[in-house]
Amino acid sequence: MTKYDHIVVGSGISGLTTTLLLALSGHKVLLLEKAPRLGGSLARFTRKGVPFDTGFHFTGGLIHGGLLYRLLSTLGLFDAVEPLFMSANHAHRFVLESEDRIIDLPAGIPHLRQKLKDEFPAEQNAVDGYLDRVIRVCSQTVGMDLNLIGESSPHLEEETISLKSVVDGLTTDPILKSVVYGLGMCYGVKPSEVSFATHARVCFDLYESTARLRDGGESLLQAFEQAFRKLDVEVRCNSWIAECGRVTDRRVESFILNNGQEVSAEATILTIHPNQILQLLPREHLSRAFVDRVESFEPSAGFFTVYGLLEDESDTAFGGTIVSLFPSPDFESLLDPGYRGDPALVICGSTENVRGVTHRAITTFEPSFPSHVAAWKDSRTGHRPPGYAEYKAGRVEAIRRHLGRYDTSYTDCFRVLDSASILTYRDYLHSPEGSAYGIKQKVGQYNLIGKLPIRNLFAAGQSALLPGIAGAMMSSFFVMRSVLGKDSFNRLIASARSMRALPGGA
Ligand SMILES: Cc1cc2nc3c(=O)[nH]c(=O)nc-3n(C[C@H](O)[C@H](O)[C@H](O)COP(=O)(O)OP(=O)(O)OC[C@H]3O[C@@H](n4cnc5c(N)ncnc54)[C@H](O)[C@@H]3O)c2cc1C
Repeated sequence: MTKYDHIVVGSGISGLTTTLLLALSGHKVLLLEKAPRLGGSLARFTRKGVPFDTGFHFTGGLIHGGLLYRLLSTLGLFDAVEPLFMSANHAHRFVLESEDRIIDLPAGIPHLRQKLKDEFPAEQNAVDGYLDRVIRVCSQTVGMDLNLIGESSPHLEEETISLKSVVDGLTTDPILKSVVYGLGMCYGVKPSEVSFATHARVCFDLYESTARLRDGGESLLQAFEQAFRKLDVEVRCNSWIAECGRVTDRRVESFILNNGQEVSAEATILTIHPNQILQLLPREHLSRAFVDRVESFEPSAGFFTVYGLLEDESDTAFGGTIVSLFPSPDFESLLDPGYRGDPALVICGSTENVRGVTHRAITTFEPSFPSHVAAWKDSRTGHRPPGYAEYKAGRVEAIRRHLGRYDTSYTDCFRVLDSASILTYRDYLHSPEGSAYGIKQKVGQYNLIGKLPIRNLFAAGQSALLPGIAGAMMSSFFVMRSVLGKDSFNRLIASARSMRALPGGA
């Protein structure tokens, strides 16, 4: 049997962060990844030689002092990546198609506040009420301060109220509501189902600034890989836990890997989907209530995605903006699996230089759900029945037409290179349903995070605390505090801060 201090399962941003934190604390770590390569949603792929992102297109928090800046700086990785910020005047563009109205959101909450007041002069109090509450939730969220991450939080009323009920209490203006709900595409849950607190935590950093990374998530992945080389980390791809060994005193003594090898560790951190965690845990050690809770989690929205090149010089269609096309202001419908109208569409552009040639790579996302692909759910990538190809071709054509309605450059100059359904994501990322953000994080729901019923197993990842890259990283810091213990964790953060001269609140 090979012994490690710790085993980490899954090599997305959460698994990479967990591994690095453990290794920086001087532990011997085994990182297991089921796919042939590391990175999960961070990894890029190429089509016709041009790189595209899998699941990391843009984020908030990369400005000095932002959440992601602080998380990456603590790990010593911030200098290895280069943020490319969206335009200060229109970091996000919301196109409200049924109203024939475009609203550009500037970067920075003071600018956003002013812009919304200018756009909605009769709604000054609603704008203040909404933004003040977003700020208050984030300032009272202890997890947003790394020193306090994992401390018990004061009870926030906003954890138990839906976004919709807060917004309904502030305004009746359907367009202002659409603007508030628009970034819901970044967590994939309806306004009536998501808590105001989750919405606020995802949106706060995106309102302050939105950025891509040069070379996408791959630059982050490379920074982690480089850091691992200097530390006691063993990385294994095409590897997973096939079964748990004997459980004594609610601790698992060892695991059998898929190659038959037996390994053991003090603690094992599972950064994979809660349903997959449930499959791994020996059922005789789980209560019915625990199993029911995990089985009741629903998938967040996923995306049907089209990848292509914009072969035209126009900046109106490209620009430093994340463009969201909303055919209807009714977000309850736009994020409902049963909705059959024109879907929303998010458009991200990136400039990619390949051997001296500049390409304008475009990725578009349309919300999608398991029921849309139910007919082919038993098929795997590379072995899909013919009906599936027809479904994809139909969606690609509909998305092309939708893009053309927004900007004619897409009608004339958009070359589609490939497309992906949520089944593609499911199979590529080894996630049960191909959702973009793991489980739907619903109001009042108790997610799976930290210590599990088997006491040396822990859960982290995007479904644990908050969706998205920053949320998945935060979950790893949170869980590390209980794996390492408060004092060791705080020493690690303090020493990282002094080595890198980070500001006090880091
Ligand atoms: C299409 C799409 C677009 C997105 N856009 C954005 C965006 O622009 N900004 C943003 O912040 N977030 C975005 N997200 C969400 C973001 O990518 C995720 O929240 C985050 O990357 C999740 O990180 P993770 O480490 O929890 O999981 P993942 O990145 O999914 O990593 C999990 C890893 O575990 C591996 N694995 C699974 N099962 C096992 C097993 N049994 N044993 C070993 N390994 C296993 C998987 O192969 C995978 O590598 C997007 C997601 C998608 C799908």
